[in-house]
Amino acid sequence: MKRFLSLPVLIVAAIVAGLAAGIAASATGLHQVVIDWVKPLGTIFIALLKLVAIPLVVTQLVLGVASARDLRSLSRLGGRTLALYAGTTLVAITVGLLLAHLVAPGRALSPADREDLRGQFAAEVGTRTDQARAVRDRGPLQPLVDLVPDNVVRALSDNQAMLQVVFFALLFGVALLCVPTDRARPVLDLFEGLNAVFIGMVKLILYFAVPGVFALMTACVAEFARDDPSRALGLLGALGLYFLTVVAGLLTLLAAIYPLILRFVARVRVRDFWRAMIPAQLVAFSTSSSSATLPVTLRCVEDDLGVPPRVAGFVLPVGATVNMDGTSLYQAVATVFIAQAFGVELGFGAQLAILFTALLASVGAAGVPGTGLVTLVIVLEAVGIDPGGLALILAVDRLLDMFRSVVNVTGDAMVCLVVAAWEKARAPG
Ligand code: ASP
Repeated sequence: MKRFLSLPVLIVAAIVAGLAAGIAASATGLHQVVIDWVKPLGTIFIALLKLVAIPLVVTQLVLGVASARDLRSLSRLGGRTLALYAGTTLVAITVGLLLAHLVAPGRALSPADREDLRGQFAAEVGTRTDQARAVRDRGPLQPLVDLVPDNVVRALSDNQAMLQVVFFALLFGVALLCVPTDRARPVLDLFEGLNAVFIGMVKLILYFAVPGVFALMTACVAEFARDDPSRALGLLGALGLYFLTVVAGLLTLLAAIYPLILRFVARVRVRDFWRAMIPAQLVAFSTSSSSATLPVTLRCVEDDLGVPPRVAGFVLPVGATVNMDGTSLYQAVATVFIAQAFGVELGFGAQLAILFTALLASVGAAGVPGTGLVTLVIVLEAVGIDPGGLALILAVDRLLDMFRSVVNVTGDAMVCLVVAAWEKARAPG
């Protein structure tokens, strides 16, 4: 009975019930009621997760760094993590490019549907394009400048500034390593106590996961279908092949590439990995945010997969910000799809440009809903495609965001296990 009512089962039930309630609300014209009265519960759930994310990252990282043997082992950990993140993202983009050329979903889009979608979503494209241009025009070294906060309180108070918080916590942890033990001990004790409290907070917040996920799913369907489910079905029909190509690519990562890496590089039983990760994957699916899911991912990877905070506390927060395999794969498929729909031929040089800009875009994208769409503009412009093409994919973007966020979170956890294996840091399962 206990297993039957475990958290993953309850969250799946909440997702299914939310889908059904969303469809019912839209069919009966109650979508606005859902948006006014149900969606806020989901917003509260996301806020609770974000609330604990930054404090937890700070305590985990400080404790992680302070327990490192020396600075050399710390830089080795950092090097391995970044190399693995870049490598897995490049694999994800390559899978996306191959699938998009194989299936060619853009050629299946009829000219009538294309014009219809452009007309319906033209206004939204303008906003996204402006946001993307602001990111692109910041100068080549701006990401490095952005990494270093000039005010720690401001960084700690900004959920978008996760990398600045990581930077501060690393610096703090390294300084703590250099302080005489009798001075460092009380600080460490304080952080250990705080860390335990924050982990307790995550457990409490997860009690709210079921209503939170139900509300998020209901609102997502109601917002997508509004009061006209047949329009929503029409959009899904026109973009069905594109949608399925992205999902097939994401499944290739989840069901083939990650298991191979887990089995042969991290030497982890794939079944154990899946069983442990399901709560984080379900939360990522319903919140569409790898940053909001971070507290749950940390819990799954540390408690159920035996990775010590020294490794997970560094690898996962960095991954939630810079590693987005699902987003990069989706950007590769979306770029090829839009090019095909516009009849633009992409040569070898353009494929390479997609590979590198999608890699950079994944680093630049924050782990919050919809950022993948914004940075996609940068990829499109890099290969000379009119960013107005975004209109073709906007209709299903919110839905795809849920799927790619699952892969983003799973990819971070997979890399964390590989790093833990290389560092010989994982407790035997
Ligand atoms: N929502 C994604 C995430 O948080 C990012 C994106 O692809 O838009 O991981």
